[in-house]
Order: sequence, then C-alpha cells, then structure tokens
Amino acid sequence: MARIHILGGGLAGCEAAWQIARAGLNCVLYEMRPVRSTAAHKTDRLAELVCSNSLKSESENSAPWLLKEELRRLDSMLLQAAQTARVPGGQALTVDREIFAAEVSQAIDTNPRIELRREESVSIREDAITIVATGPLTSGALAEEIARITGSDGLYFYDSISPIVEADSIDLSIAFRASRYGKSMDGSDDYLNCPFDREQYERFVDALLAADAVPAHIPEDQTRFFEACLPIEEIARRGRETLRFGPMKPMGLVDPRIGRRPYAVVQLRQENLRADSYNLVGFQNHMRFPEQARIFRLIPGLERAEFLRYGQIHRNTYINAPALLGPTLQLRARPEVFFAGQISGVEGYVESIATGLIAGRHAVELASGEPLRPFPRETALGSLCTYVSGADPHNYQPANITFDLLPQLDEETRQRLRHDKKARHAEVCRRALDKLEGYRAVYA
Ligand SMILES: Cc1cc2nc3c(=O)[nH]c(=O)nc-3n(C[C@H](O)[C@H](O)[C@H](O)COP(=O)(O)OP(=O)(O)OC[C@H]3O[C@@H](n4cnc5c(N)ncnc54)[C@H](O)[C@@H]3O)c2cc1C
Repeated sequence: MARIHILGGGLAGCEAAWQIARAGLNCVLYEMRPVRSTAAHKTDRLAELVCSNSLKSESENSAPWLLKEELRRLDSMLLQAAQTARVPGGQALTVDREIFAAEVSQAIDTNPRIELRREESVSIREDAITIVATGPLTSGALAEEIARITGSDGLYFYDSISPIVEADSIDLSIAFRASRYGKSMDGSDDYLNCPFDREQYERFVDALLAADAVPAHIPEDQTRFFEACLPIEEIARRGRETLRFGPMKPMGLVDPRIGRRPYAVVQLRQENLRADSYNLVGFQNHMRFPEQARIFRLIPGLERAEFLRYGQIHRNTYINAPALLGPTLQLRARPEVFFAGQISGVEGYVESIATGLIAGRHAVELASGEPLRPFPRETALGSLCTYVSGADPHNYQPANITFDLLPQLDEETRQRLRHDKKARHAEVCRRALDKLEGYRAVYA
C-alpha cells in the first residue's frame, strides 16, 4: 500500500504520523527544521511548543478536559508524552517543553513505520494521500502552493479574533436587539446592541488607552498586523472619536429605552454553529486576557459577562476551512488531501493535536479503502470538525474547544438543569464520552 505523506512535524503532524503507524500503515513525515526555521521555533525538535507550556485545564467536566479525555481514550501519543512531561501547574496540564518534545521526537524516530525527512515541502503531490500540517508559520513556498490549490481567497495570514461571551451572561435589560437601519438578513433582528452614553464611552476609551498589551511573539506581528486589521486599542490611540466612526458607530440604531440613537454602540453577533454565545463584532485586540475581561465589562450590558474566548491578533496561516473542507478534514475538491492543526482553522495546542489524530485516522481509512467514519457530533472531536467544516465561511475565525461548539442538550434536560450550569456541563461531557465509547466499540 502506498505511503501516506505528512507535511509538518509539529503537534498535528506528529500525532497524525503516530496514528497512521499505530494502524499498521507506513508514512513519510516532512519537517523543514533545522534546514529552514520559523520565526517562533527555537529548536530542531519535533512538536516544539512555541509559547506557553500549558495544554489547558484538567478540571473534570470542562471543555478543554473533555477534548483531552477523548484524545486519551483514542490513544493519543502526544497526550501520553504530555503526561510523562507533566510539571505542577494547578488545574492545568502543564509540561516541561523539552521533555515533551524529546518524548515525541523519540517516539517518531524509533517507529519503523515512520520515515522522517528533514526537508521543506513546497508542493502537494497528486499521486498520494497527504496530510498538510505545517502550522501557523507554514513556509512561504508551501503557502503559495496551498493558495493555488484552494484559490487565493482560501488562505488567511492573520488571526484577528474577536472575544466571545456567553449569551446568558449578557444583561438583556440593557442590550437591545436590532440591526442597523432595520436591515435584517433573515427578517429577525440580527444583533444585540450594547448602548453607551457619552460618559460611559469616555470612561471606556480611557481604559483602552491605559490597557496592558501582550508583547508580540514574533516581531513582524507588531508592524504588519496594524495595517491588515487594526486592534481596537490602536483605533482608540488614533483619536478619541475614531472608535465611534469604526466598530462602535451608533448610526442606524435606536435604543428603545431612550427612544433615540445612543452615543456609541458595541454590536454582538450570534455565531453560526455556536449555540448560546455572541461575538463582539470588530473587537480584535492585543490586550492581556485579564485586561480584556476588566475593560470589556465596562461595556453597558456586559458588566457580568462570562468570556468563552478572548480577542487576539497574531500571525497565523490558515485556510478558510468551511469553504474548503468536509467534516473528515478532507479538501472537498481533492479528497486525497487532508488538513490538520492550526492551518486547518483550529486554534490551540490540544485542538491541533486533535485534528492531527482525526486526519491521521481518516487517512488510514481512505488508504485502506474503507468508508470514512466521522466522529459523533456530540463529542468534542466531532464538534471541532463540524465547526471547521460547517461554520460561516464569511469572516471565518479559528476556534478553541468551548462548550458552545458542542450541541445543546435536549429541551427536557436543559429545563431540568436550567439553574445548574455545572450539572449541564457534566451532562454534555457524559453524553460525549458515552458516544465516543459507542464509536470505539464499533471501530476501536
Ligand atoms: C507565536 C505563536 C504562539 C502560540 N502560542 C500558543 C500557546 O501559547 N498556546 C496554544 O494553545 N497555542 C498557541 N499557538 C497556536 C498553536 O496552538 C500552535 O502554533 C501549535 O503549535 C500549532 O500546531 P501545528 O501542528 O498546527 O503547527 P506547528 O506545531 O507549528 O507545526 C508545524 C510544523 O511544520 C513545519 N513546517 C512549516 N512549513 C513547512 C514546510 N513547508 N515543509 C516542512 N515543514 C514545514 C514547522 O517547522 C513546524 O515544525 C501559538 C501560535 C503561534 C504562531
């Protein structure tokens, strides 16, 4: 049987390679370092963690825990390496990055079914099953090739992620439903609008101007992203009124409580495929996460907001996944090509590992002539795939795993547990793991 080719020996690529070898198939793993490096990697090790050493929460019944638990049950090599490399980190799975990368490198190097080639891939072969897992810092030549085969609109180079808040933490006695000039896309009022009076707006701008920013991981982030997509604190720096003519413009909106246009507005948009959550439109920013929580709670209606995701801007190469990929992470136009990791439109270490595992398993099924078996929608893995292949392709933003990606509980259970969020989350996790066990029982 022909070998499967995997481009990129990072988190997704190594997990994919290992899953393929575990299933008894052979593969070639291409890693360009040390021949060519990236702006963030420092070593020639496989699966180098480029920034924090945290694989997020291990608190039982949290969404990041659920994703890790599913990966453990599916025999993820990288989760096993993380366990070996674990260092104390409270509720989080934090690792010694050197031990982690050494464990993964050794597992790949010593596996007779995996051939590691230290070279830059610049094209995607037409005669083999290929998994593209070259990450957010994909080399230029390959990025051009990906742009060519996906169409030039299919590839992004920057993440400009807006924060997301939980729907039931928004104060609906303040935020009002309306779309600008009453122009709703589907006959309903598309947005929730948080209205400011002048004093509230001035206080908000002061807070933005004094905010603590995240230092850039990569020097070019500081220079290039500003022109591509402005963070709100930078817009505020360009003049106290500038936000009112940009993402906070109140034109075409009437606050029903005062019967006229507010001084400024923050618009919240419900995300397609994200149940129970709203995106702060145009609020990409470069502030530290605790600063974002503090400052965005100054927005009228968001005083008690619970944040599911914070805003970010950084260099990130990723495809417009919903326009291009199916739920098995295959390119619709070329099903022999899979995408995994950050380039497939997910965000985060564990999400990258997860998509590597999924693509690796599906590549095995394809190579073996078996039908491809998507993970159940109720699992965190299935929900990630549903998001990347089914979200709104206009203005697509990569996702971390959060509960709003998982399907809602049935109405009766929701009603029964409506006052107990912890119990609802525990039920979502129980349902996901049950479904996963059902899947494993059939497909192992
Ligand atoms: C600067 C930065 C900081 C980040 N910090 C965090 C964080 O703290 N926490 C978090 O959860 N996520 C973080 N992320 C996001 C993401 O989780 C990580 O980038 C993660 O490593 C992605 O995994 P991956 O497998 O998709 O890519 P990577 O782990 O980057 O692996 C891709 C591999 O492909 C190789 N490669 C690239 N082009 C080619 C080519 N043409 N041929 C052959 N090899 C190639 C690269 O050298 C690399 O080894 C960060 C991203 C960036 C850019």
